[in-house]
Amino acid sequence: MNANLHNIKVQPLIHFSTEKVTVCMLRLDLLHPVVSGNKWFKLKYYLQEALASCKTTLASFGGAYSNHIVATAFAAREAGLNSIGFIRGELADKLSPTLANAMDYGMQLVFVERNRYRHKELIILENDNPDYYWIREGGYGLLGAKGAADILSTADTSTFSHMICASGTGTMMAGLIKGCIPGQQVIGISVLKNNFSIEEELKSLLTLEEKERSFSLIHDYHFGGYGKHPEELIQFMRETWQLEELPTDIVYTSKVLFAVKNLIANSYFADGSRLLIIHSGGLQGNCSLPPNTLPFS
Ligand SMILES: *Cc1c(COP(=O)(O)O)cnc(C)c1O
Repeated sequence: MNANLHNIKVQPLIHFSTEKVTVCMLRLDLLHPVVSGNKWFKLKYYLQEALASCKTTLASFGGAYSNHIVATAFAAREAGLNSIGFIRGELADKLSPTLANAMDYGMQLVFVERNRYRHKELIILENDNPDYYWIREGGYGLLGAKGAADILSTADTSTFSHMICASGTGTMMAGLIKGCIPGQQVIGISVLKNNFSIEEELKSLLTLEEKERSFSLIHDYHFGGYGKHPEELIQFMRETWQLEELPTDIVYTSKVLFAVKNLIANSYFADGSRLLIIHSGGLQGNCSLPPNTLPFS
């Protein structure tokens, strides 16, 4: 799967750093304008397995602005595979830019009414096809975590004390726990409201030894829930752009940055800590906002 891995860089965040705590960002968003960030890493080994087992089609799930859906469509096309996306909700008058992109990459879209969408096993049963390679929503799973572990080898990450990421399914965080070195701590900022089951879902992707490593999930920065983006968050995104020339997305990376700023202000980190925040991409999701809401696109 081709992407511009050499574009990834570590950006020091001067205005987030203090005398005591250094903050840097690993810019996975620079991989590709649409298929950016962690989804590319999470798909890597699923794709390998699909090809090795001679499947012809990647099949997966997602909403109208899903980073995972558009990444799956792109990855399939790159690998010479077909793709089919089961999309939550009815087809609106106009396709979202995300779904229009996915279609451009060749994905077949199937719209599934919300109540039925909850029952993924039924959708899989009803659409059973030996040529399909099914990937869980958001890329959750062991191979996804294995791919995410590779995130930490895209740059020299050995000098950091903490790796911090946004967590939806917890797959990326599991990968960071797998990929970190002894002494490093992994922190996940959950972007869903009260999603406490993520802890067990995350642990089920770890070996016994990995479960002993140092990691924690923080549930205080969801801003009202998944995809919720009150004006306070939007304003913070504008400031972050002005101060650091750093684009963020409304679902994940703005919330993790806000959390870090707040945690530093509350002296959460010991003096001398060196934080590496993962910019996991997702910028295409901002297309759900009214035009010109943000000073970057
Ligand atoms: C999907 C996604 C996440 C969450 O990753 P999980 O592995 O599901 O926890 C974080 N950031 C971005 C930009 C994403 O698209």
